[in-house]
Amino acid sequence: MTRTTQPPGSLVLKIGGSLFSDKSRPGSLDEKVFASYAALVADLAKARPGRIVLVTGGGAFGHGALRGLDPDDPFAPLPFVQATAGVRWRWVSALTDMGVRALPLQLGAFSTVDPAHPLGVAVAEEPLKALLAAGVLPVLSGDCLLRPDGSLEAFSSDRTPEVLVRALGETPRVVTLTDVPGVLTGGPGSDDVLELIDAHHPEDAYRHVWKESEWDASGAMQGKLDALVACARQGAECFIMRGDPGLSDLRHLTRPEDEWPLGLKRTRIALPQEE
Ligand code: ATP
Repeated sequence: MTRTTQPPGSLVLKIGGSLFSDKSRPGSLDEKVFASYAALVADLAKARPGRIVLVTGGGAFGHGALRGLDPDDPFAPLPFVQATAGVRWRWVSALTDMGVRALPLQLGAFSTVDPAHPLGVAVAEEPLKALLAAGVLPVLSGDCLLRPDGSLEAFSSDRTPEVLVRALGETPRVVTLTDVPGVLTGGPGSDDVLELIDAHHPEDAYRHVWKESEWDASGAMQGKLDALVACARQGAECFIMRGDPGLSDLRHLTRPEDEWPLGLKRTRIALPQEE
């Protein structure tokens, strides 16, 4: 699989909750680190207005809201709506202070679970398209989606890009920033990163995934792989890489991959390039 030499049309940037919040500690948010990430996103949004979509992980707030749910209550995940709205608003507030026009979007307000749809979710694309056309930065997260039987489904932030890429037009890119440099092949703490995953044949990559912690509600790496394989099969070029709040900027993420800084580790998930 060769690297693309074209810049992406648009970028969905998913920032993992573990980068600014300790999911094992209720209510945890590292204000300083969060402000650093907000500054990186603000810089990116100003450099490419109308081309960036931000998806935030829920951190301790999102995962906490999904613990110990009553399996007999069809609306049990409702607190997840409030938790994720709070995190989205944190981003919008910080970005607004930095001079970016950002707006929180509640995924469940324009998407529903639809088993007949190829993605399993039906999405009204217009709100997202309109915001991008107006140069606004949409800020999304996981959310609760309505099922056909009237119950709520907690839909993770990792999966959110999956239902957005189609609205982004030509050559979308999805970058998932997390607390590891990619899919590690040597188990926890190792440094060997799986560089490429063919989205048609991702089976081998799943062999490297280890069980997530008990407090994790989103399936950790398994959930990221599922989501990015689904994005790549829709034509997106996808990456899993480590987030670093100390970087001077993230602008390379909107450039062709062969122009990225040397030595930057990542896992790329895409369809094979046509010869
Ligand atoms: P979210 O916002 O959805 O919670 P996140 O970016 O905070 O996402 P996690 O959901 O915790 O991240 O997923 C990353 C974790 O996946 C890693 O910290 C690691 O424990 C786990 N993991 C499991 N298998 C692997 C693997 N093969 N390589 C790398 N990480 C893996």
